[in-house]
Amino acid sequence: MSLTDVSFLITDYDFDNITIATLGSHSALQILHGAKLEGFSTLLIVEKKREWFYDMFSNLIDFKVVVDSWKDICKDRVLSYLRKHNSILIPHGSLIEYVGLENVEKMRLPIFGLRSLFRIEANQRMKMEFLRNAGIKIPKEYTLDMDINSPVIIKFPGAKGGKGYFIAKTKEEVIKGIREAISQGIITSHEDVMIQEYIVGVTAYYHFFYSPTLRRLEILGADIRYESNIDGLYRLPPDLRESIRASFTVVGNIPLVLRESLLPKIMRYGLNFVKYSQITLPPGIIGPFCLESVIKDDGEIVVFEFSGRIVAGTNLYVTGSPYSSFYWNEPMSVGRRIAREIRLALEKDMLHKVIT
Ligand code: AMP
Repeated sequence: MSLTDVSFLITDYDFDNITIATLGSHSALQILHGAKLEGFSTLLIVEKKREWFYDMFSNLIDFKVVVDSWKDICKDRVLSYLRKHNSILIPHGSLIEYVGLENVEKMRLPIFGLRSLFRIEANQRMKMEFLRNAGIKIPKEYTLDMDINSPVIIKFPGAKGGKGYFIAKTKEEVIKGIREAISQGIITSHEDVMIQEYIVGVTAYYHFFYSPTLRRLEILGADIRYESNIDGLYRLPPDLRESIRASFTVVGNIPLVLRESLLPKIMRYGLNFVKYSQITLPPGIIGPFCLESVIKDDGEIVVFEFSGRIVAGTNLYVTGSPYSSFYWNEPMSVGRRIAREIRLALEKDMLHKVIT
């Protein structure tokens, strides 16, 4: 199945009765809430063990598919139920993680977003390569045959929210940490790790939205990830910090408004990302994406990660953000913006341009 042209998946769809579908996790409530505000029917695929929780928000859910495990979403009975309801699936952070990249790639369901980007997003090296080629400043990457004399962060593949990452100052510390990770079964070989320059500054994550119907890039918000224990270390006296290993487990998100003089650079990065995705992965990014950065004290912005779909930090702005108001003079979350884009696409006979 082509990852880009999926028009054939909507030939039997009733465009007057489109349903917005998503998985019960991550940013599902925001997505369902936004879909309802835009007048769509909603469908939630939910694991049996979480059904009770989502039932507490039954006002947001018209149809429900209960599965024993996430992978069941690929079963014919589930897919045909979704298709019967003319469903468009909204991907979020849990989709690839729980359903699996290959299953999502071949899923016979229209997905709002750029399906071909998921494979790049799932691979740390391809991801950094993508950013660099797009003209976005990224941290230096080290290999074990290089000298390491300044702080580096060691990242493991598939780490959930930064779990297991560590900071080291010398090659010996890097090797020791990697050996420990291998002996604990976290990784199988040192080739699985990425050793990246540790950028000193403050973290900032930008919520972008590219609209194929309006052909414009919007910034809909920004946040800071609140990470344990790195964000709490400063509360200790410096002599005690030395003995504690920093960790990067995301526990929540904090809203952020940026100095306006930083915005042109941030928007430039966003535009670069859109343009490069259009050149290399046509039709290019569709809808939400996030660039994840550190801003240094000299104002330089270094991007160490991206997400090619809605990020959980957008849950902060269910009633809109300081930025969304500049485009939409009404409460506009990213969840609602997705539904608005589908609505605009239906009105302009462009639905095939916002799905892959
Ligand atoms: P990631 O899994 O790449 O999103 O990283 C998890 C967390 O590690 C981030 O939210 C940052 O706090 C931190 N981090 C990742 N890469 C870097 C870097 N190159 N320099 C400084 N901090 C980083």
